[in-house]
Amino acid sequence: MSSFKCKDMGMKCKFEVKTENQDELMPMIALHAEKSHSMKDIPPDMMEKVKKVIKK
Ligand SMILES: [Zn+2]
Repeated sequence: MSSFKCKDMGMKCKFEVKTENQDELMPMIALHAEKSHSMKDIPPDMMEKVKKVIKK
């Protein structure tokens, strides 16, 4: 089980998502970033941060 909370990124955002594994998690995060944070692409430095706050 992998989980991600947007607020762990320092965002004022209640989004959180849980999936079976990290491979499923990343597209969900990308979709949320695009829809809610107007981020079409997650920059590499942001991606590193995302990976750090993901709980496995
Ligand atoms: Zn968010």
